[in-house]
Order: sequence, then C-alpha cells, then structure tokens
Amino acid sequence: MTPTQGFAAQSATTPLGPFTFERRVVGPTDVQFEILYCGVCHSDLHQVRNEWKGTIYPIVPGHEIVGRVTAVGAQVSKFKTGDLAAVGCLVDSCRDCDNCKRGLEQFCRNGAIGTYNGKDKHTGGVTYGGYSKQIVVDERFVLQVSDKLPLETVAPLLCAGITTYSPLRHWKVGKGHQVAVLGLGGLGHMAVKFAASFGAEVTVLSTSPQKEKDALGLGAHHFAMTKDPAQLKALANKFDFIIDTVSAPHDYSQYLKLLNTDGVMICVGIPPTPIEIAGFSLLNNRRSIAGSSIGGLPETQEMLDYCAAHNITSDVEIIEMAYINEAYERMLKGDVKYRFVIDMATL
Ligand code: NAP
Ligand code: ZN
Ligand code: ZN
Repeated sequence: MTPTQGFAAQSATTPLGPFTFERRVVGPTDVQFEILYCGVCHSDLHQVRNEWKGTIYPIVPGHEIVGRVTAVGAQVSKFKTGDLAAVGCLVDSCRDCDNCKRGLEQFCRNGAIGTYNGKDKHTGGVTYGGYSKQIVVDERFVLQVSDKLPLETVAPLLCAGITTYSPLRHWKVGKGHQVAVLGLGGLGHMAVKFAASFGAEVTVLSTSPQKEKDALGLGAHHFAMTKDPAQLKALANKFDFIIDTVSAPHDYSQYLKLLNTDGVMICVGIPPTPIEIAGFSLLNNRRSIAGSSIGGLPETQEMLDYCAAHNITSDVEIIEMAYINEAYERMLKGDVKYRFVIDMATL
C-alpha cells in the first residue's frame, strides 16, 4: 500500500480538508499515474453533502482525472511510463454481463464501481477519487489522452464531456435538429459544444442573463431566459431534444411543453428530490422523457478522440486545492465559467 495525500470531507457539513489514505500497489494489469488535474463536477458536491444519500465518509471526490503514468503492471499493453492517462467516473465493473460486454459498463448488472464512494475490492474499503496525488486503476478503465489539447481543459471531458456526448450520439442528434440545452454549467457548456459540432441548431435555456454572450461564444445559436414566461411561451413546440443539465429541483412540465412532435427531453441533471410531471405536458406531441448516465469505456475513448480531432475542450477556471470549498459555494450560485479544475500541484 502507498500512503497518498488527498482532500476529503469528513461529514456532510464539514468543509473538505487534507486527508492521507492508502492506494494499492500496482498489480499486473494496473496503471498508476500522477494526477495533474482534476475537474470539479456538481456530482462531487451532491455526494460530499450526502444529497443523494449513501455517502461514506471520509469521501475523497473527483472523477475527471488526468495525469502522467508513473508505473504499469507486467501485463499492461496500452500504457507505458510517461504517457498521459485519464480516469472518469468508473474504475471497475464485472466485465462479464451483457451490458459490460456491450461497453455499457455504467449499467453493469453486478454494479459498476464508482471512482469514489464505491466498494474497493482491492482494499476492502471504499474507493477514493481524484482530489489526490496519484491513482491506481486497472488499464481497462484508463483512457488514452492526446497531447494535442491543453491537459487541464481535457479533465472535464471525463464526466461533463461523456455525459453530454453519449445521449447526443445515442439519439443521433445532428443537422436539421433543434436542440435546447437547459442550464449552462459544466455539463451544459459541453452539450452546447457537442450539439453544435454535430450540426444541430442550439438554444441555451438559462436562469442567468449574464451568460448570453458566453452561450453564443460556445457555439449556441440562440439564448432564452427561463425566468421570463413570454420567452418560454415563444419556444413552445420548437425542440426535437432538450438536454436538461439542471442540478436543482425544477419544473419538468414547463420544459416538456417546448418539445415538438416526438421530441425527447433527456435528463442528465440529478436533482436530489423527485419531480412531478403533468400528464398533459407529456401526451401532447407524443413527447418522451428519458435519462442518460455518463458513458461506457469505449464511448468515452471515442469522445476523447473526437475532441482531439475537432479541437473541442472545456472552458476551465484553474483553482488551487484549498479553494475547493469556495468553489462549491460558487457552483451552487451558477458562478462557474464553465468548469473548475484543480491544479493538483497545489495539493
Ligand atoms: P453545474 O456546473 O453546477 O451546472 C448546473 C447549471 O444548472 C447551473 O450552472 C445553472 O445554469 C443551472 N441551475 C442551477 N440551479 C438551478 C435552479 N435552481 N433552477 C434552474 N437552473 C439551475 O453542474 P454540472 O456539473 O453541470 O452538473 C449538472 C447536474 O448533472 C448535476 O445534478 C450533476 O450531479 C449531474 N450529473 C449527471 C451525470 C449523469 O451521468 N447523468 C453526470 C455528471 C453530472 P444557468 O445559470 O444557465 O441557469
Ligand atoms: Zn461528474
Ligand atoms: Zn457487468
């Protein structure tokens, strides 16, 4: 075991602070890498504060992890020391069920293992995430990263990127589609970039008027304020898809009404409490509501390769590790442009 420095929350109400824990030694199929940058996802905040229940403390969050390989096991073939590497939301799964065999490890029948707050079969304890100096992961769950893009802007692709890329690909979003992105945060800004890159006409629906200029700069074609009933009314029946990235409780029905015939509202945001839906907002226009969860390993690699080929990165604000508690407060206010990324040299 290797003592490893990290940052952890000890309870739902305590700020994150320094914490030392043990990582396993490098096994035959493992890759160990020094973490250089880690993105800050709203899911980190939900789980640190136990908003989804089931958080085990201390929790070391972080699942947008990039770095440089420091050691590989004897059977590792994809990586060598010195390579760039990345890990997203998953570090293991059964690899044997139908979903794992289809590359949908996030839906593993036997329970995918989260990068943090998951059951660590190697230590018998809990998995610890990327707010830390180094990580050891089986090579099947380690992604290859191009050296063409600035590394700090790649980190958020590992969750915000794949979570928005995957549903857009699944529903074959492209030219001729009207797409709305609800909520312009970490996930939202990546949804705008991907949807625009795939050829769709993109509208950002936001509670923050000051984000209009940014939205258009990110590739959106239109911007509307969700707090203005007149602006929403004007968009009734317009969209083929809505990607809902909102982290807090909100009224699904008012957005369903914006869907055109056979339109789909794809929920990727995970508000802590259930949300009511008015039947009529769903039946008219034969609308659907759907969900999507991150993405499997093959698709995550495909997304990273697409980003390298098309020069797509996340817009980031680099922070020091010690700034994390303030960053969480700013994230709650929607004050992020558009992803905090921790420079792990500051830990
Ligand atoms: P984020 O950066 O905080 O962005 C969320 C955005 O939602 C905010 O910037 C804000 O945009 C909008 N918003 C926040 N509170 C709102 C409210 N009360 N009413 C209306 N809009 C509000 O968060 P994120 O990291 O993108 O994550 C978004 C959600 O996705 C979280 O719930 C997270 O847990 C979830 N998530 C899901 C998956 C998955 O696999 N499905 C993966 C990662 C994250 P405006 O200022 O534009 O209104
Ligand atoms: Zn995430
Ligand atoms: Zn499985």
